[in-house]
Amino acid sequence: MNPDYPFTRFAPSPTGYLHRGHILSALYVYAAAEKFGYRVRLRIEDHDQSRARKAYIDAIREDLEWLGFTWEAESIQSSNTERYERLLEILRKKNLIYACDCSRKFTFETNPTNEDGEIIYQGHCKELGLPFAKNHAIRFKTPDISVNWEDLRLGKLTENPKDICGDFALKDRIGQWTYQFAVVADDFEEGVGLVVRGEDLKHSTSRQIILAQALGRKEPPLFLHHPLIVDPTGKKLSKREHAESIRGERDAGKSAEALLGEVCAQAGFLPKPELLSVNDSIQLVKNRLF
Ligand code: GLU
Ligand code: ZN
Repeated sequence: MNPDYPFTRFAPSPTGYLHRGHILSALYVYAAAEKFGYRVRLRIEDHDQSRARKAYIDAIREDLEWLGFTWEAESIQSSNTERYERLLEILRKKNLIYACDCSRKFTFETNPTNEDGEIIYQGHCKELGLPFAKNHAIRFKTPDISVNWEDLRLGKLTENPKDICGDFALKDRIGQWTYQFAVVADDFEEGVGLVVRGEDLKHSTSRQIILAQALGRKEPPLFLHHPLIVDPTGKKLSKREHAESIRGERDAGKSAEALLGEVCAQAGFLPKPELLSVNDSIQLVKNRLF
């Protein structure tokens, strides 16, 4: 473990209430933290100000405390504007970004999408020299290279970020920092050496590695992508689809121990649900990490 990067992080977005999928993610974060000797940071990822709500931010802390999780550091992206401006300036000086005035409609009409449905931006505005004006997005000049990394669970992976997302946005047209930029900037400056998150974010990794390098980070964080809990139809649980929330289950009378045990059973760590403390749940996941 590099002493400059002693943290791993649990990083929910306050765009809805936490649900069972978040419990599993938190268990993986805490299990990996114990196994590999990292400290846990809670980071509230409210970069998308159009969807973040104060009530959800408060609920994240309350729900985690109710389950029994504790954390050693906390941060919130809406307080990090100075950081994002400063790091963006590094990229501008290196001539690694450009402004883009493509509308959403035009972007979708003129670019292919990847298997996650994301735009693979082909660089329409790259040579136009548009000003970094308020209503323009800012895009990264993604290099056409293979990025190799070793996921702690999935093993060796290779990806060319140019093929996955093209010149991805760091700031959108309404001036919001994107997930990709905010998370890389924060992991870099908040001492995060281990990123533990769901497999649905696996295809963000190659672009995050090259972006971190462009910002001056000497070695990228380690990555561990964990499987997701799926609903009975095989679809992943999502806040946007109103998956039952932790708060809803608690209000219906369920105890934290019962909920933790059910999540561990759903994820395949137990043959059937039993009452589990948060610590027992973490140990269970830790012993079955790979
Ligand atoms: N905020 C992201 C989410 O809730 C997680 C980001 C990450 O772990 O890199 O899906
Ligand atoms: Zn454009």
